[in-house]
Order: sequence, then C-alpha cells, then structure tokens
Amino acid sequence: MFRIYLFLIVLVCQCVAIPLTKCQQGVNCFLPRCFCPTFDHPMNLSDIPQMVYFGFDDAVNSQMANHYDFLFLKDNLTNPNGCPISITLLVSDEFTDYSILKRYYQHGFELGVHSVTHTHINTGDKVREEAGDQRDNFVTQVGISKYDVVGWRSPFLITAGDQQIDALKQLGFKYDVSLIYTRPHIDNDDVWPFTLDYGWPFKCHNNRCPKQNHKGFWQVPINPLIDYTHEFTCAFVDGCAYKPRNEAEAYKYIMDNFYRHYNGNRSPFGLHIHAAWFETKHLRDGMNRAIHSMNELEDVYIVNIKQMIEWMKYPTKLSEIKTFDGLGCWPRDKAFLHILLMVLPVSSLFILVIALLVYVIRKLMFRSRHNDYIALNGKKHMNKLVHGSDDVEM
Ligand SMILES: [Zn+2]
Repeated sequence: MFRIYLFLIVLVCQCVAIPLTKCQQGVNCFLPRCFCPTFDHPMNLSDIPQMVYFGFDDAVNSQMANHYDFLFLKDNLTNPNGCPISITLLVSDEFTDYSILKRYYQHGFELGVHSVTHTHINTGDKVREEAGDQRDNFVTQVGISKYDVVGWRSPFLITAGDQQIDALKQLGFKYDVSLIYTRPHIDNDDVWPFTLDYGWPFKCHNNRCPKQNHKGFWQVPINPLIDYTHEFTCAFVDGCAYKPRNEAEAYKYIMDNFYRHYNGNRSPFGLHIHAAWFETKHLRDGMNRAIHSMNELEDVYIVNIKQMIEWMKYPTKLSEIKTFDGLGCWPRDKAFLHILLMVLPVSSLFILVIALLVYVIRKLMFRSRHNDYIALNGKKHMNKLVHGSDDVEM
C-alpha cells in the first residue's frame, strides 16, 4: 500500500514538475537573458520593426566580394535610422582573403564563424577547436576583438547536439544558426529566435539538436523559404530545387517570402545563402531589386544577426527605434576606433622619427662643440708651442 502511495506522490510531483520545465515568458524566463520559443511576439504587431538579416556562408574572396559590393555597398543604402544596412558573413578559412574580410568588418558587417576546415564537425571537441581556431584567424588577420565574434554556423548544418552549445558557450559565443525549424504546413508562421534555456522544443532534422537547457544562449532558427512555384521549401535561398528562371521570378521569390513575415507575425526574415547563387545574373538582379524594395519601407531594418539579437534582448517599439543603440551605427564607431588604432602606430612611428632626429642633431652639435674644443685646444696648444710654456706636452 505504501508503495502505491509513493508511486502516486512521485506521479503527482512529476505532473507538477512538467509545466516548470516548459518555457513561460515572464514566469520562468525573462528578457534580456531568456526568451521563449514563440510564434507571437509579446509586442503589438504594429510596433515591431520588420528585421531582415542575411547569413552568407563559406569563403570570402574577390569573387564573392563582387557580389557583396554590388548588393550591399554600391548604393550606400541606409536603414530608416540613418545607419548603413549590414549583413552577417559566416566565414570558413580555405580560399578566404582576409584583407577583404577586414574591409567588410571595418564597414560594419558582422563576422561569424563557419569553421576552419569546413568538414563534418559533429563532436563538442571538434566544434571547440574549429570555432576557436577560426576566431583566432579573424583576430590575427582581420584585427577584430575576439569578443566581437559571437556567432557560429555548422558546415552542412551537421551539428553536435548539446556538446555543440556547451563548446560554443565555453568559447564565449552567443548564438548558433545551424538548426532548421520546419513548419507543420508550408504556410504556417515562422518561429522567432529564442534562447535555449529550455532546450530545442521542435522536431529535429539530424537528431543532433540540444536536448538539455543552455541558459542565455541564442538559437537563431533557419525558417525555410517557399520556392517560387509555391510548392516546396528550402532552408537556404540557393537550396531550392526549382530556381527562378528570370529576374522577375527571382524578385518575386524573395518578396513573397518577405511579405509572409511583414504581413504575418513580423518574425525576423532570415536569408541563409551562399553568394555563389549570384553568379547567375538574373538571380543577382532580382535580389538587388528586392533589397531596394524592402529598404524603401520605413519599418524595415536590414541588419546583421548580432544586431537582430540585440533587438530581441531589448525589444524596442518602432516609435522609439531610431534612438535604439542595438540597431545603431555602432559598427561605424568600431570602425572609427579601428582607424584610431591604425593611426596610433603611425603617430608612434612619427614620434620615434622625431626623437631619432633630435638625438642625431644633438649628437652632431655635441660633436661640433667637441671639434671646437679640440680645435681651441689645438690653437692653445699652438700658442703654447709658439710662446713657449712649461705646460706644453711633448
Ligand atoms: Zn558551408
């Protein structure tokens, strides 16, 4: 009988305990440290800025730079707050030209890590090594502070489950963008980014999603796009089986997906993509037109992932957004600091040259005085020689 009571008590406790393990915003999860998975942001829809972010994968070199310059720099596009639009580059090492990366970083693009070797990175140790080493590459070859590198995407979206998040947290990373969220129906809403305080609660594609809780670590879900035929979905913009056949279809493909967010739950519209897609001219032109169309809207912000997460941590109404630091021109300030740091060694060199010059001049003057002394001494010596003296040295 006692055993039955015990069993019932355990059962009741478990029933009570279950809701406690479910993420409840404002109950067991509080911003800015924690945000529950949701399809409906607590803020009124009309107050939410529509954020658009690009996550570009793989190497950055002159070939890719042509596309980035064309799409994101050529026209000096700014967000409604007056700050330049930004993107996130998730960079792997091979074939990357770090001088180009430096230029983008100085402009205000976010640099995230996409491994060194671009191989199957499916254990915590591998994640720790690849993420740490590639971040070191940024630090040494781009001049970025390691604290500015906070995002990771797994190559091929092959992940290491809980070990992956543990490794990234240990390294000081703040977010992962490697997991796909699949909508039950093609037209359902997309999920907002959230923290893993209560794990990954959705279906897992590769069976390697975090099952445990990871406090304060952001998961930026990949919400698949609908292809231009409106039949199939694809995680990456360039991953759809049916590619748009002309510029009009490419434009419509992007804009249709954008409007699902803009006229839907206003969750951030993520474009996960490889720049190689733009080797086809009509695809690049379609994207270019879509970027301009989105940019013309007063409530749309084209930002990098780090900026988007800043807004998630400190949700700010559209009416106050223009003074919100999180979507501000902070990369500009960083660039200014960077320029200052670049200038400092030059000024140090200048001071060194001046100091050397002063030293050389003083040395020359001393030598000249010394010569005079010797000369005077010489004259004295001569005088003594001429007029005779006991002091005359022989
Ligand atoms: Zn890749």
